[in-house]
Amino acid sequence: MKIIANRIKLIGSENAFKVGDDIRRCEAMGNRVIRFNLGEPDFNSAEHINRVAIENIQKGNSHYCPPAGIEGLRKAIAKQVSETRGLSIDPERVIVTTGGKPPIGYSLMTYTNPGDEVIYPSPGFPIYESWITFLGAKPVPLHLDEKKGFSFTAKELKKLITKKTKLIFINSPSNPTGGVLSKEELEEIAAVILKNCDKNVRVYSDEIYEHIIFDGLKHASIASVKGMAERTIIASGHSKSYAMTGWRLGYAILPTLEETAVFKNLNINLISCTPPFIQEAGREAIESSESKIVVGRMVAEFEKRRDVVVKKLNAIPGITCAMPKGAFYVFPNIGGLCESLGVIARQKKLPRAIQEKIPPATLFQKFLLYKHGVATMDRRSFGQIGSAKMHFLRISTATKLELLEEGIEKISQAATDREGFATFVKELEQYL
Ligand code: PLP
Repeated sequence: MKIIANRIKLIGSENAFKVGDDIRRCEAMGNRVIRFNLGEPDFNSAEHINRVAIENIQKGNSHYCPPAGIEGLRKAIAKQVSETRGLSIDPERVIVTTGGKPPIGYSLMTYTNPGDEVIYPSPGFPIYESWITFLGAKPVPLHLDEKKGFSFTAKELKKLITKKTKLIFINSPSNPTGGVLSKEELEEIAAVILKNCDKNVRVYSDEIYEHIIFDGLKHASIASVKGMAERTIIASGHSKSYAMTGWRLGYAILPTLEETAVFKNLNINLISCTPPFIQEAGREAIESSESKIVVGRMVAEFEKRRDVVVKKLNAIPGITCAMPKGAFYVFPNIGGLCESLGVIARQKKLPRAIQEKIPPATLFQKFLLYKHGVATMDRRSFGQIGSAKMHFLRISTATKLELLEEGIEKISQAATDREGFATFVKELEQYL
C-alpha cells in the first residue's frame, strides 16, 4: 500500500518557490548569489495600506467574515473593474480569494471534466498547466512567439480550438514574457472565440499585472469586447500591482451568479474566508488616491530597469531579448549562447534520464547559478510541454539597478566561460 495517492503525481509546481533551495545550497557552498528569480516587487506595501490593516487588527476585526469577501472590498473591486473595463459589474459577482492563485484552481474544478481541453499560454504561469494535468483535463499549450513580442494571433488560437475546448487562459501583461495584448489583438481573439466556441466555453483572463504596463500603454481586457463579459472570468489581485505578495489577496469576477456561488462554496471548503483586516487594507489600496502615486513610482522604476536590462542583454553575443511592455520580467532567448558555449551539444550527451529533466536552458541556468552566482528561471519553469528545444531564461527586474547591471555582466562572462562550463558538466551530479 502506497502512502501517497496517485493523483498527487499529476500536480506540478512553481519553480520560483523551489529555486530557493538551489540558491541556499549555492550560498552554503560559500557563493554570493544575485537574485534574478524573484516573482514579486522589491518594494514593500505602502504605509497607508499597512496602517489600515494594523488598525483593523487592533480594533478586533480578526474573526471569520463572509466567504465571498467583505462588502466594502467587493464593491471597491466592482467599481474599479467596471470603470477600467467599461463594464457594469455587480459586486455580487466578485469573489475575494487568498491571492491570485486560488481562482485558477477553482476554474479548473468548476468548468472542466476529465478529458476536456484547456488552452493556455506557453511560456505562461506554471500553475495553469499544473492544475490542468492535476484534474485530468487535457493541456493544449498555445506557444507564444518571441518575434511577435510573445503575443499570439487569433489564427494561432483558432487552430487549437476543438469541440472539446472548455477553458482558455489568457494572461496580459504576461508572466514570464512581459508581453501585452493590445485592444485590437484582443478583439481579434474574441472574434475567433465567439465564432468557434460554444457559449459555455469560458475564458480565464488573468490580469494580475494590469497596473504594471509601460510606454504609456493602457491595459486592455478581453472582457471589454462586446459579447465577451458573459464568457470571461476576470482575475486580478493585489500581489503585484500594490506590492502585496505576502498579504495573499486576489479576486475573480464571474460571468453569472450561479458560477459565483460555486466559487464561494469552494472558498468555504478550502479557506472559509480571506482575513478581514487584509481585505480592509485591500479596499484602501484600491480606493486611496495615495496608491496611484506609489504604484506610479514603482512602475516608472520597473520601466527604467527594463530599458537598461534589455539593452545590456542584447549586447551579449548569443542573446536576443524582446522588449516587454509590462510586468517586471524580461525573457531573453539564449539559443545562440547555448550553441556557442556548447550547451546544446553537451546536453545531448547526458544520460537519457537526466536529459529529459535538464534541457539546455536548464543546464545553462544551473551553470549560471552555481558557477557565476546569478539565479534566473529556466524556460521549462513556465510550461513543460513542448519546451525542451526552447532556449530562454526569465530575468526578473524586481532587483536594484546596480545588481541588475552586475548580474548581467556575470551572464556575459558565463556566456564565454567554456572552461568553467566543462568543469561544471563534469561535476553535474552534485548540482542535480
Ligand atoms: N497569475 C500570474 C500570471 C502570476 O504571475 C501570479 C504570481 O506570480 C499569480 C497569478 C498568482 O498571484 P498570487 O501571488 O497573488 O497568488
